Formats: sequence, structure tokens, C-alpha cells
Amino acid sequence: MGMGAGAKARFKVISEIHLRLPRQFDLPQDEHGKKLRVSEFYGVNTFDIHKMKEKLPKDIYTQLISTIETGKKLDSAIAHTVAHAIKEWAMLRGVTHFCHWFQPQTGSTAEKHDAFISFDDNNRTLEKFSGAQLIQSEPDASSFPSGGMRTTFEARGYTAWDPSSPVFIMEHVNGKTLCIPSVFISYYGHALDEKTGLLRSIEVLSQKATELLHLLGYSGVKRVVPTLGVEQEYFLIDRAFHHLRPDLLMTGRTLVGGQPPKGQQLEDHYFGSIPARVQAFMSEVEYELYKLGVPVKTRHNEVAPSQFETAPIFEEANIATDHNQLTMEILRKVSIRHGFSVLLHEKPFAGINGSGKHNNWALTISASGSGLDGENLLDPGKTPQHNIRFLLILAGILKGVQKHAGLLRAGIASAGNDHRLGANEAPPAIISVFLGDLLNRILNDLEQGMGSQQSPEAAIIQLGLSQLPEVMKDNTDRNRTSPFAFTGNKFEFRAVGSSASTAFPVTLLNAAVADAFSDLVEALKKKEKSSSGIEAAVLELVRETIYETRAIRFEGNNYSEEWLKEAIQRGLPHLRKTPEALDELVTLRSKEMLSRLNVFSEAELVSRFHVRIERYIKNMLIEVDTLKSIVDTQILPCALAYYGLLANAAHAAKSLGGAVPQAEVMSRLGVLLESIQAKRTRLDAILLHVESQKSEKDQARGFSIEVAGMMADLRTICDELESVVADDYWPLPKYREILFLS
Ligand code: ADP
Ligand code: MG
Repeated sequence: MGMGAGAKARFKVISEIHLRLPRQFDLPQDEHGKKLRVSEFYGVNTFDIHKMKEKLPKDIYTQLISTIETGKKLDSAIAHTVAHAIKEWAMLRGVTHFCHWFQPQTGSTAEKHDAFISFDDNNRTLEKFSGAQLIQSEPDASSFPSGGMRTTFEARGYTAWDPSSPVFIMEHVNGKTLCIPSVFISYYGHALDEKTGLLRSIEVLSQKATELLHLLGYSGVKRVVPTLGVEQEYFLIDRAFHHLRPDLLMTGRTLVGGQPPKGQQLEDHYFGSIPARVQAFMSEVEYELYKLGVPVKTRHNEVAPSQFETAPIFEEANIATDHNQLTMEILRKVSIRHGFSVLLHEKPFAGINGSGKHNNWALTISASGSGLDGENLLDPGKTPQHNIRFLLILAGILKGVQKHAGLLRAGIASAGNDHRLGANEAPPAIISVFLGDLLNRILNDLEQGMGSQQSPEAAIIQLGLSQLPEVMKDNTDRNRTSPFAFTGNKFEFRAVGSSASTAFPVTLLNAAVADAFSDLVEALKKKEKSSSGIEAAVLELVRETIYETRAIRFEGNNYSEEWLKEAIQRGLPHLRKTPEALDELVTLRSKEMLSRLNVFSEAELVSRFHVRIERYIKNMLIEVDTLKSIVDTQILPCALAYYGLLANAAHAAKSLGGAVPQAEVMSRLGVLLESIQAKRTRLDAILLHVESQKSEKDQARGFSIEVAGMMADLRTICDELESVVADDYWPLPKYREILFLS
């Protein structure tokens, strides 16, 4: 008896890890051997606005830009010229293949490569890339989730270039592919992907916000564009440990694993100095992202050991969503080169902080030539006049979030995020809005002054609103516990999970706010008639809206028990687990709103519900199967082997007439072994019961409560065993090793 092969492998990694050195890589050089600056290679792999201007005839360039600005499909008359320019540029960079790069409802991206290679009439080979190939492609759609839509409608699916997102080159170890960011739709135009809904929501939000601003007298406003800056948290662990953990490999999170004596309680990791090997990894990630035109800006250690964050400079929400997908992909790819694995799961380590993806969101005016261009509507502004605009927009956002709080919760629902939400490090599964002390006070004062006959100008000055901009810059007024927090000139939707695509949560947020803006437009039109001017009408509307939406505002500690109680009293939805949250997608209210605003038809919404509930069930099934196999083939055998060792020792001691060594350990081990086997059997019974449920909904609910509960029970026993069984019997790398060695 002795160490098993599993434990040996684990010890080998531990003993070798100090030999792993930071991977060197050099920035590209010019012909004189001088290293290039970031600004010299930034965006070399994207066919961005500058390249369009440089490489396209002027009239074609102008048409393409107008296509991009109006969000239309590319005119096939110019497609050929655009495709040709793109192909020439791509081939100079060594590209051989192209693909439509799209985002099916799997949460990640999909691509099918085609070579440029073709034959001419004389059977000579040449490289070809036509306008038609740029605009549209027909992947075999049948293997992507459609939530039943294809059986209802049509099996074929099309991808179509979304010209608002630039074409880019993805580099692989031995080759390069031209990627064309695309939407993925059915033959009849139903959204099969994550991007179509996002683009539609951006469109309708722009329309409604523009209408609202026109009523306020900003007639130069042409569009209003949501902006998005995505803070991406992740864990980085040594790849060898990753490979020794079937749970991390199969599910992205540890299904067993005892707490280390030192977790994050010393708070020595947050913003701490970045370990050399990690630093080398981050630099290479940034290099790859810069080439793709992703403006990564910030990098730091996060709260938990081995947890880090990267954040870009914000961009238009559509592009930011693509860029976040690229960021996740590059993180994965580059981690392999450095002998790391990146964990994007929301909660890879129980008891240790999980990872989120803070979606910083704001609204920017597009109004070229009017002096308003680029203004952020969430910037409180410099004059009372602007403050009125700000307050109206703010009121609209509060209203949207309040009206559709359940839907917004549904937008962040996933098996992974269930472990993170409400786990004392992330906001609970209750959507509320944090505004900060000053803004909150102003809104309260405004609400109290409801019906007062003051002129708006006077009211604003009296409320101290003319000082808004100065105070808003004070970033110390933070509440990290809020799922949706105002942070100076943007909202931060923090409840989004780290592995999620930003497309769906942002689509629903855009739509919810567009709906509220639409209400405000109607109300304002009515009020304008009976008020002494538009400003008075706005102020009255703002007051009413503040009053209506006070339930959604919460300034206190979102993690506290009291908040859970208070939120229920306030009537806010508390949807703990994914299955109940997903129900919110298909309520009458959600269906009515999203179809009225042309974001999702009822069929599209129902299909999203099915896709997500199926994904949830599949995730849970994979987790249970993995846990069963870890228990049966790793933990039980090693615990039994250790028990055997103790039994032999006891036998030997007895035969020599001595006292039984380790008697206490043996009896504890015996109890644990009995208990683990009982729970293991019970898990099978529960599974059988849950899987026999007829409806997907009931199955999902069963997984979220009974199965998840029994998995947690089983885990508790496994983790106790980990603390009893001799270290050199244990095959699974322990938390202390995975998180503190690298
Ligand atoms: P924090 O204090 O939360 O770390 P930062 O100022 O570093 O905030 O910004 C976090 C993210 O918010 C960044 O990605 C940043 O680009 C983004 N951000 C800043 N302004 C806006 C805006 N107007 N719209 C969208 N995102 C924004
Ligand atoms: Mg932040």
C-alpha cells in the first residue's frame, strides 16, 4: 500500500511548479530593430474605418459608412468592391480562409472556414472572395440550439455580415482566418443568435431616446447609442492542476474541494503586485487584443487568490459585445501558451469569491455637426438645463428597471451564476438600483416637493442640482453590493456572470429602458399641453416617476438578511435559481413589451426560454455525472485504501497486543464512508425521480433544488474526507495548491 498513481501525478505537479518560468515574447519590431509602440500595431488585424477610407474608392466608402451608421444591410451593388478590398488587405497579411463569425445561443461564438481558393474558367487556381460571400453565408444550422424554432419554421439558417462590427483577422499557430462578424437568422428572418436581438434593441432604444430628446428641444439628435465597457474577471490556474481535476475540465468549477486554511481573508491579493508568470500572460493577451483593435486598458489582481480582471475602454454596445467574446477567446488561447488555464466560470471555487462581468452602460448622443455629438446622457451635465435632461433620462432608466426587474434577472440566469448570486460576494438575485448619497437625496427632495409651484429653474437651483457634476465625480461613493449601480456617469450592471455573453443582458436592458422612454414620451406629450412649458412638464414627470419607482432604489447593503426581507415587502421579485428566473422571459408583460418594440417576437422569446432551460438541464446533468464519477472512481477508492491501511495497522497492533493506533481516525473515516455511500445512493434515486418529470420546467426545478441540494450534501462529506484521508492518498489537487501555487 502506498501512494496511488493519482496522488503521484498531483505531487509531481507540486514539485515541478517552481520550474515554470514566465514565457518570454517580444513585441514586433520595425526594419531597424526598434520595438513597435502599441499605437503602431493597434488594430493591424481589423478592417476598421481608417482602412476602409484608405482602401476603398471615396463614393463606396461614403456609402459603407452610411450603411454602418443607419444599421442597414450592405447594398449588394457595392459589396463586390468592399469584398475585393478586404481580400487584398487580408491576403497581404497571409490570410488563406474566411468565415462568418457569429454568436449562436450557446454563449460563445461559431465559425466555419472556407478557403479563398477557387478556379477560373481556364482551370487555373486563384484566390476569390465575392461580395455575395461577404454579405451572406448558409451554415448548416441544424446543430445550433434554436429552442424548437426550426421545427416550427424552417431548417435553414443564414448568417449575414453586420457591417457595424469591423471584419478582423484571427491568427492561429499556423495560419490566419478572416472573420466576418455576422448575425444568424432563419429563412424567415427569426433571430437564431444573440446578436440580432441586441442590434434590434440598440435600434429601438435609439429611436425612443431620440424622440424623448426631440421633445426636450434637442432637434439635432439623430441617434442615441448605448455604450458598454465590460470588466472581465477570471481565475488563472496552472494547466497541470486543471488536467488533474475532472470537475474543472468537465464543468468549469470544482464539485468537491475543502477550504484552505488561508483564503482571501487577509485581503492581500486585491490590487497586489501581479506574479511574474501572470504578468507575462497578461502582456501577451493585451498584445493579441490590441492587434484585433480591442482597447484593453486596465489589468489587476482581484479579491480572491489567483483571480484577475481585465477591462477595456468602452465602445458602442454592439462592438463591445463582440470584443468581449474575443477577449474571452484570447484569454483561453494565450493561457495555453503560458501553461495556464483560464477559468471563466462564475464560481469555480466554493467558499471563494466568484467572478462577474460588470457591464458599464451609458447612452451617447450621435448628432454630427450639432455640438451635442458624443455627449453622454448619463453625465449630469454642467447647467441646470442639462440636469433636467439628465434627471429625465435617469427617471426613465429607473422606470425601465423597475417595470422589468424580473426580465433583467432572467437575462443573467445561468447554472454558473446561480452559485455566485447572493453568495456574499455578489449581489443577490434581486434587481435593485443604487444611486449614491447625493443623487438619492436629490431625488428624495424632488419627490417631496411634488406638486410645488416653483419654477423648474428655481427648484433645480434650490435643490443644489447646479452642483451635480462636481459631486458626481466623487467616486468614493460606491456600493459594491448593488446589482445595478450608478457610478458617476454610467450604470454598472454587476449581476452579469463572468462567462456570459453580454448580448442578452444588454439586449434586455436596452429594451426595458426603451419601453420606459416610450412611456415618458407619451406622458410628456400629454403634460406639455397642460403645463406652462416643457421644463415644467419634465420636472413634474420626473417627480411622478421618482415617486413611482422608489421601490427599486436601494442604497443599503444588498448582502444583508434584512434586505431580502425588505425587498419582498417592497414587492420586488426574488428569483433565486435559473428555472424560476427564466419564467420571466415568457410572462405576458415580457412578451408584450419585447414584441411591441420589435426586439423579439413571441416565438423568438419562447425559443430563448427553451434554449436556456435546456442548457441549464444539460449543465446540471454534466455536473451530476462528473460528481458521481469523482466519488465512485477517485474519492471512494482512495478513502477505502486509506481505511485498509489503518485496518492493517490496527490488526498488526492488536496481534502484538498493543493499543490500536489511529482508532479515532478510523472510526471517523468509517462513519464518513458509510455516509458517502448512503448519499451517493440517494443521489441516484433523486435523479431518477427528477429525470422522470414530464416537463422541462419541472425537471429544471428538480435539478435546481433537490439535485443541487444532494450534490452539496455529498460534497460536504467529500470535503471532510479530504481532511481525514492521508495527503499522499488524495488524487485531486487541493484548493491550497491550485490557488496558491503557480
Ligand atoms: P471602476 O471604477 O468601476 O473600475 P472604471 O472607470 O475603471 O470604473 O471603468 C470601468 C469600465 O467602465 C471601463 O471599461 C470603462 O471604459 C467603462 N466606462 C466608462 N465610461 C463609460 C461610459 N460612458 N459608457 C460605458 N462604459 C463606460
Ligand atoms: Mg467597476
